[in-house]
Amino acid sequence: MAATPIPFCDETACRTAGCVPTLCTGAGVRSNAELYERSARAIPGGVNSSIRAFKAVGGSPYIVARAEGAHVVDVEGNRYVDLVQSYGAVILGHAHPAVTAALRAAASDGTSYGAPTPREMKLAEAISSRVASCEQVRLMNSGTEATSTAIRLARGATGRKRIVTFSGNFHGATDALLAAGGSGVATLGLPGTAGVPDEAVANTIVAPYNVVPTLDDRVAAVIVEPVAANMGVVAPSPGFLAGLRRECDRVGALLIFDEVITGFRLGPGGAQEKYDVRPDLTCFGKVIGGGLPIGAVGGRREVMATLSPIGKVFHAGTLAGNPLATAAGLAALNELTDDVYMELAARARRLASMLRDACAAADIPTQFPVVGTLVGMFFGDAARGGLPVNFDDAKKTDESLYARFFHAMLAEGVALAPGAYEALFVGVGHDDAVLDDLVERVHRAASRAGK
Ligand SMILES: *Cc1c(COP(=O)(O)O)cnc(C)c1O
Repeated sequence: MAATPIPFCDETACRTAGCVPTLCTGAGVRSNAELYERSARAIPGGVNSSIRAFKAVGGSPYIVARAEGAHVVDVEGNRYVDLVQSYGAVILGHAHPAVTAALRAAASDGTSYGAPTPREMKLAEAISSRVASCEQVRLMNSGTEATSTAIRLARGATGRKRIVTFSGNFHGATDALLAAGGSGVATLGLPGTAGVPDEAVANTIVAPYNVVPTLDDRVAAVIVEPVAANMGVVAPSPGFLAGLRRECDRVGALLIFDEVITGFRLGPGGAQEKYDVRPDLTCFGKVIGGGLPIGAVGGRREVMATLSPIGKVFHAGTLAGNPLATAAGLAALNELTDDVYMELAARARRLASMLRDACAAADIPTQFPVVGTLVGMFFGDAARGGLPVNFDDAKKTDESLYARFFHAMLAEGVALAPGAYEALFVGVGHDDAVLDDLVERVHRAASRAGK
């Protein structure tokens, strides 16, 4: 691959041709490895989100200088077809003109005020008008904030403590939801990481995905990824989501859908529209910010009324409803017509079948399940004998085989997420030409990884 290095400098008034002023880090051209080393001195592990450090696949990360559409370019000038797409946040592709224009216009009016703005109202309306269960919406800054707020809201609204989560579902870095469960049956959660005290998960029950647990009247809420997209992609079994709805209704618990990935990714109405099940509360993030930091909780009006300032459950945020994030989010939602989703679903199917063919030709056991516009991947034992339906199945994925495939793809100029349990994201940027261009690279990568 021909690489055009990007020069760096420390000069505040740099005039070097091609210099990206915001990336000025020192004199001369830098390599990924050098920059990563320097980052690791300033930032724990050199990253601000753990997975980016490549620990699961080995090696050290490419450092992104810029991106456009389906491609990212690292600081050495290597160009990758990007199937990470900020873990799904940039569904329009990188630096989409509609988003950058909205951001430019918004930025010159100021970036945060500490007072309400019209765009917050518009984004809340845009979400409500597309997602029937969301009569009202509160905006915040991340998916993590959305799930932690939804849990507090559910506990405050019901006056109960217990929450039920599912093994292999991911709800961000929220203490009460960082619980590890046992295998196969619903168990009281154990801390899923150091730093979470037993007490923080003492009221969290972890159940196996795709089995409707029996609840009682101590349960405030069940929180679920309606399509699991953080253990590979696992679709809900027929009747699972409707069963959760019924069981919640039976005991007066709230049903929370964590649609941080699926919201505005599976379609305008998310997973709840696709599977025709209405949750009481929905968590959003990723797509609704058009690539800027955002989160939201939406839900039934009487439940949302439990939030401060009208209700007794506190929520606040200095940057919540941020002018830039709402501008980018509105621009993104505006582009996402039904036709776009149809096209994205066709691209997801094409990508999955391309990967299947290449891996089959190289004798690599894989499954690439497709749910709407989402593509998952399972390697090795997890891919033998049917698709995984829960975390016990998904965990059988051969992580070292995935690591080989990952690095073979990277060497071919294709960026996958550096972890075996992530989804593959195609967006508006992945047009036919990009997918055509992938075919041979994917075959070469698979044949190298299979050896
Ligand atoms: C990404 C994700 C989150 C966390 O969102 P952040 O914006 O990273 O805090 C929560 N739930 C699900 C399902 C996610 O995929």
